[in-house]
Amino acid sequence: MATPKHNANGHRRREVVKRVKAEESDCALCDKPVDKSLTYLAGQHGKRCSKPDCQGCIPDPRRAEVDEDIPRSRGGSPYARKNCRLMHRECNRWKGTMTLAEARAKLHGDTGQPLPKPRPLRVY
Ligand SMILES: [Zn+2]
Ligand SMILES: [Zn+2]
Repeated sequence: MATPKHNANGHRRREVVKRVKAEESDCALCDKPVDKSLTYLAGQHGKRCSKPDCQGCIPDPRRAEVDEDIPRSRGGSPYARKNCRLMHRECNRWKGTMTLAEARAKLHGDTGQPLPKPRPLRVY
């Protein structure tokens, strides 16, 4: 795994991710505990997997990920500790480009107006 050039921002991001995973234990979106030991689904493989000794290479949808409260695409910093929160992978995917407040309002239905049914969480 050679990195062609030193990536300072990648390093900063890794430091924030490490801190969030160390400091938080519940999902910022669904409020349920996140099992930080989860990695890949055992025995489930991607289409291009050809390793005979692979134990599984589909990311567990419940594994821990760190996402931005305000998404990068909307000006949030992926390097600011206060903008980064622990989430389940599937919650992170569901959140998409919403802010955490928007996603929570949509998930918990407390916007004061009727909402379309949230699309079901699915495995990526
Ligand atoms: Zn969650
Ligand atoms: Zn595999």
